[in-house]
Amino acid sequence: FSLKELMQGMGVTGKYFFERKITIQYPEEKTPISNRFRGHHALRRYPNGEERCIACKLCEAVCPALAITIDLEERPDGTRRTTRYDIDMFKCIYCGFCEEACPVDAIVETNIFEYHFENRGENIQTKDKLLAIGDKHEAEIAKMKAADAPYR
Ligand code: SF4
Ligand code: SF4
Repeated sequence: FSLKELMQGMGVTGKYFFERKITIQYPEEKTPISNRFRGHHALRRYPNGEERCIACKLCEAVCPALAITIDLEERPDGTRRTTRYDIDMFKCIYCGFCEEACPVDAIVETNIFEYHFENRGENIQTKDKLLAIGDKHEAEIAKMKAADAPYR
């Protein structure tokens, strides 16, 4: 290195040292997330506790990754409910088609992106787990849905 090159390098370092920072200190700092962000899935309920999902299987049919598996049963009143609703998170490509296809806004993709699996098989997110996420985050999910479709 010549002294000139050293000074050039220090000049570049100095320039960026005093410029506005374009990086953030994740995880302490986080960037804003769009209402359309497609993170971990959740299954929602109505305010009275009834599951929204009517087991129409549209999400299963539209999923390009074949990540959704649904079994269902018919109830005495003629309505249908799922007995199994699995999403294989290793297959999912987070396209959002399931959410778009759902006629009752039951399956949604939340803004949750910080999750991991520690044991074999945890990539299969079952109905119970998806409903639990929906129950826990319903207020935020409803807010995001409303903000994304203000004229509905
Ligand atoms: Fe399938 Fe796309 Fe839904 Fe993932 S986000 S489960 S790939 S439809
Ligand atoms: Fe139908 Fe929606 Fe249930 Fe999928 S989540 S089976 S699209 S009601």
